[in-house]
Amino acid sequence: MIKQRLINRDYKTLLANAQPRQKKLHLSAILAGTFALLVAVFYFKGVSSPAQTDAVQSSAPQLNIVPIALPDNAGYDTAPPIVNKSDYSEATTSKVSRNKSTHKIYTVKAGDSLAKIFSQLKYSPTTLYNIMQLGKDVALLKKITPGQTLRFTQNVEGKCLSVEYDIDRIKTLHIQTTENGFSASLAEKPVEIAHSTASAEINNSLFYDAKQAGLADKTIMELANIFGWDIDFSQSLRKGDSFTLLYETKYIGGVRIENGNILAAEFVNRGDKYQAVRFVNSDGHAEYFSPDGKSMRKTFLRNPIDFARVSSRFNLRRKHPVLNRIRAHKGVDYAASTGTPIKSTGDGKVIFRGIKGGYGRVVIVQHGQKYSSLYAHMSKYGRYKNGSRIKQGQIVGYVGKSGLATGPHLHYELRVNGVHRNPLTVKFPAAKPVNKKLLAQFKQQTSPLLAELKLAKQTQLALNN
Ligand SMILES: [Zn+2]
Repeated sequence: MIKQRLINRDYKTLLANAQPRQKKLHLSAILAGTFALLVAVFYFKGVSSPAQTDAVQSSAPQLNIVPIALPDNAGYDTAPPIVNKSDYSEATTSKVSRNKSTHKIYTVKAGDSLAKIFSQLKYSPTTLYNIMQLGKDVALLKKITPGQTLRFTQNVEGKCLSVEYDIDRIKTLHIQTTENGFSASLAEKPVEIAHSTASAEINNSLFYDAKQAGLADKTIMELANIFGWDIDFSQSLRKGDSFTLLYETKYIGGVRIENGNILAAEFVNRGDKYQAVRFVNSDGHAEYFSPDGKSMRKTFLRNPIDFARVSSRFNLRRKHPVLNRIRAHKGVDYAASTGTPIKSTGDGKVIFRGIKGGYGRVVIVQHGQKYSSLYAHMSKYGRYKNGSRIKQGQIVGYVGKSGLATGPHLHYELRVNGVHRNPLTVKFPAAKPVNKKLLAQFKQQTSPLLAELKLAKQTQLALNN
């Protein structure tokens, strides 16, 4: 079991960022256990843009603009040095500044735009215009979010000489003046990847116990996605279920920055053991398979909405909330906020898109001969029109309350050979297994990972006894 401080810190940031959302969270808190927590995590992830600050950034000064003199050796006939913030604070103590160039760190605030920032720093609109002409890397500057920082250098006349922007913990955008105006380049820090393991028994919820085992939210979500076709994490988890994971951790200069992919995983649910291993084919396409090469995916997604809460289950005798009489509910309702994307649960063809009485805006997708799926009460449609092909996971439309609906939700139906079936319990065929021609390569790539996973599990068992 690995404890990771950085993760705990990230979690605190998440909590802090999620404060304004507490009302919404309260609604989802009606739900018990794992699912509510997963919804919450999903929510937090959705709103917390600047959560990925590294240790250096988070200790950045609260002041918005910090003018600091450059050290003596800084000259602008050569490219400005790549300076991190610790250099900046050292620079404040240097007494003499030969060419009086200065650095400014600007921390992005809510409501800021590049134009606003440039005008605040008294750089001409032409400067910004010239920078924005530098191509697609520069377009990333438009994605600045509150809490991020931009680092500027300017000459004695106050003219902008360079801009640095940390796109994420790995990539930095450098813009600097050259003889022919500005030029832009992307720099990437070298990332080392190590393998880590984690194990936990479920005593509270998947989220809570996985968190206790040191896993990041992202990894917990990935774990739930990998096994989501076999295990219904909203309903079927039991105390005593357990998992073991082998996953990547990324380091820059010896400092752990984030988790990478799950490489192999085992989940024991009600005594049934599920194993998955990641296989990357020669095209670079990665997918999870069981150790014998069967796909972890099914031809259908269990749920058309990510971690939404199931507010009304499949029930043939239910009092209709609007009509107020017993009427079979031949589908599943997912309460989610208006605009939540709805995914097609399988590959197929859109055979209906339009208004259908109480269903409001509806899309029906036909999947081969046997299956069809229906999505109702949408606020708007996706881009797939009647007659177009659609792939599993592509957006059929967005949650709404069109038709007979008390509030925004998705009403989802699945028919097998024309008969309504409960999409939460019906068995789906598995997606394609590993290509026979690739089986040798699959074994070669995955057996060391499975061996590491086995060792992790044995170590965990030994620790427990
Ligand atoms: Zn319904």
